[in-house]
Amino acid sequence: MALLVQKFGGTSVADPERIAEVASHVARCRHRGDDVVLVVSAMGKETDELLRLAGEVSDSRPGREMDMLITAGERKAISLMSMALHGVGVRAESYTGSQAGFVTDVNHSNAKIVDVRAGRIRTALDDGYVPVVAGAQGVSVDNNVTFLGRGGSDTTAVALAKALDADACELYTDVSGVFTTDPRVVPSARRMNRITFDEMLEMTAAGCPKPAMRSVEYAHRHHVPLHVRSAFTWEPGTWVTEEDANMEAALIRAVVSDDSQAKITVAGVPDRPGIAGGLFRRLAEADVNVDLIVQNVSTNGVTDISFTVPHEQLPLAMEICESERSATGAAGVTSDHDIAKVSVVGAGMKSNPGVAAVMFETLADNAINIEMISTSAIRISCIVSGDDSDRAVEVLHSVYELSETTF
Ligand code: ADP
Ligand code: ASP
Ligand code: MG
Repeated sequence: MALLVQKFGGTSVADPERIAEVASHVARCRHRGDDVVLVVSAMGKETDELLRLAGEVSDSRPGREMDMLITAGERKAISLMSMALHGVGVRAESYTGSQAGFVTDVNHSNAKIVDVRAGRIRTALDDGYVPVVAGAQGVSVDNNVTFLGRGGSDTTAVALAKALDADACELYTDVSGVFTTDPRVVPSARRMNRITFDEMLEMTAAGCPKPAMRSVEYAHRHHVPLHVRSAFTWEPGTWVTEEDANMEAALIRAVVSDDSQAKITVAGVPDRPGIAGGLFRRLAEADVNVDLIVQNVSTNGVTDISFTVPHEQLPLAMEICESERSATGAAGVTSDHDIAKVSVVGAGMKSNPGVAAVMFETLADNAINIEMISTSAIRISCIVSGDDSDRAVEVLHSVYELSETTF
């Protein structure tokens, strides 16, 4: 008999039929003798819809009220899910994040968990209930409702699994696991049986939406085994675990693309100490999340600095760059919305030279221009034009033969 935390994403509970399917699955697990804690996301696209509504009534969208609004989505889902469970003979009780013991900091819209007081959930389990917990929410140390941010339900599930010392944290979604690339872009992408935390973290940092990055970090730090799997076929999926000494590191595991960023170039910057420091300090103070940075070799005492930021932070970042430009005498600031970051990830590249050469040659052979490059020990990322993104993913997935490999 195992204790399982099972998290269901928006698509998995999108309508009454889906909720019924999940309830039947939980009933099967209970009959098998497992204890189950459910974590549920808002139904379908509800979170997006609530965000849209807020935009219609408010320009300022105050954080406290936004969190009260957004968390309503999960609250609706947990009550419906509990009712459906009753219908199939499973005793269940719904819990908001606050009731489930999630204490967070006061950072609205992106609150961090500071404590999980899981006593009440533990008692519900001991009394034979399936607790159904609202994902991505908690209560702040100053007693306000908080939202953990987009994708936060994965983090709720991992944190509960840790607090309850569960045997596994199962993240159910609309694909059957973690794939060698997004199966919606490359249909021949393969599901992996296993992946290490290090590789999974690089994939999520490179833009893979599943599982959410913070949840992988949390699981890694607290040694919570993750099982990413399908809420549609119920087949076994991908285990994200610690490295196993017997595992031969794959050269390349996955190709990941990310079109959520835009590129800014500050041109004709005086090439002297402190200019980059000043610019990036101001961006940091404004909480702008800078990803790739490239500075060119200087000619005639000036240079160009390019970097990427999330689309939604582009206006703020442009404003800061403009003021830095006039303060430093730089020539100009430009931006490009239509870019994509394409990355290859694999722990085996540490000990195998030539991965980068193959990547750059393959993009060149397909007339795809590389605008920026960055690397980590187990990842190489290139910024390309947005129009080239899917094609870049396809040709790289093919050149590293990811459709033919099993791991
Ligand atoms: P959920 O809402 O269930 O939490 P998301 O919608 O956030 O899940 O993420 C699941 C989606 O991630 C899938 O539908 C899939 O298209 C996409 N995806 C992108 N890259 C990958 C990958 N390498 N492996 C699996 N899924 C991926
Ligand atoms: N419903 C929230 C979102 O769509 C939280 C989550 O599902 O993880 O981001
Ligand atoms: Mg989702």
